[in-house]
Amino acid sequence: MPYVGRFAPSPTGPLHFGSLVAALASWLDCRSAGGRWLVRMEDLDQPRLIPGAADTILRQLAACGLAWDGPVICQSARLVRYQEAVEKLKTHSYPCACTRKELEDSALAIDGSRIYPGTCRDGIRKGPAGRPRAHAVRLRTPADPIRFTDRVQGTLEQSVEREVGDFVLQRADGIFAYQLAVVVDDAAQGITDVVRGADLLDSTARQIVLQRLLGLATPRYLHLPVATNHAGEKLAKQTRAALAGPDDIPAALQFLGMQTPAGLLAKELLEWALSHWDPACIPRRRALPVTP
Ligand code: GLU
Repeated sequence: MPYVGRFAPSPTGPLHFGSLVAALASWLDCRSAGGRWLVRMEDLDQPRLIPGAADTILRQLAACGLAWDGPVICQSARLVRYQEAVEKLKTHSYPCACTRKELEDSALAIDGSRIYPGTCRDGIRKGPAGRPRAHAVRLRTPADPIRFTDRVQGTLEQSVEREVGDFVLQRADGIFAYQLAVVVDDAAQGITDVVRGADLLDSTARQIVLQRLLGLATPRYLHLPVATNHAGEKLAKQTRAALAGPDDIPAALQFLGMQTPAGLLAKELLEWALSHWDPACIPRRRALPVTP
């Protein structure tokens, strides 16, 4: 099957070193296989969006020489598709009217992550005066563990039911969840290969659950180590990590395990990287500090 890759940033800020690494690795993996590379703006979480960030990201990608194919898709224009998917999952989902406070009080915790204890599985409680409360839609997670092989991180298994719990497809404020939208869009765009940061490794089993329930193909996955600072904190857009640009490409390639030659211009370096791309060199780690 011809390779179709994608970069799917959330426009919550400009690209920083960590997101440039993800874009670059996805682009190199795709282009070295002669594939089509798509860009999708994951702009569903309106309260977190920063005006102008989507344009800044596209300008940064272009400045780095990471050209994409076709129009840039925005998730905010595809709500009908997500609604259709929620409808299709109706027999596997239920309304949940738990408040944030109730969730905090009742959630079971494993390794610091919160697991929904299934409070509303058997029906939601009515609000004041018997009126239905605003509710989220949760997926009733299947009991079977999900096993998948990541091209860098190896074979992983997760019981979504036990380790995550019934997860949200649509929030009480109507916003569709990332897990749902990403699965619908990867399938609609014919994505064969997902290359992204290992902070999303724990989301992959949830996405495979949804793909199976919706009868969609599962792409190949490659999860890169997440770039951290020396305190081990993710270089998030929100932590005012510096804006990434072409000057960061040598360090980004080194982060991906490549021994880059000195003295090449940014464009030549990208050509060199394309002909030397080897995912086997990527450190098999979930996080890696960036050396200054
Ligand atoms: N939009 C997500 C993010 O910026 C990435 C989604 C994905 O690659 O699956 O973290």
